[in-house]
Amino acid sequence: MQSKDLINQKLNTIIHLINNIMGRMKELFIEQQQELEYRGAEDAMIHGLSRKAREEYIEEGDTPCPNCNMPTLLRNESNAKCTECAQEFVYVDGGALRFL
Ligand SMILES: [Zn+2]
Repeated sequence: MQSKDLINQKLNTIIHLINNIMGRMKELFIEQQQELEYRGAEDAMIHGLSRKAREEYIEEGDTPCPNCNMPTLLRNESNAKCTECAQEFVYVDGGALRFL
């Protein structure tokens, strides 16, 4: 009877230890998942900001509009548009403007 109690006590201790280890592993797993999610969100944010920077229109300044000859071109990394006649252009090889 006494040795059975001792075995039960030891088993309880082992189960307790296993529960602790499982709990800690679960915590670590959740932390890891949260970190991955956070990194994903950060990457998406950086990607969004750089995309916005590439697409943002600024004043072209030097080139007059090939359509209406007014110095009213806005450009971004790949496109240009005229605020006077609303013509849109795309930059081709060598920086030349092509009508869209
Ligand atoms: Zn124009």
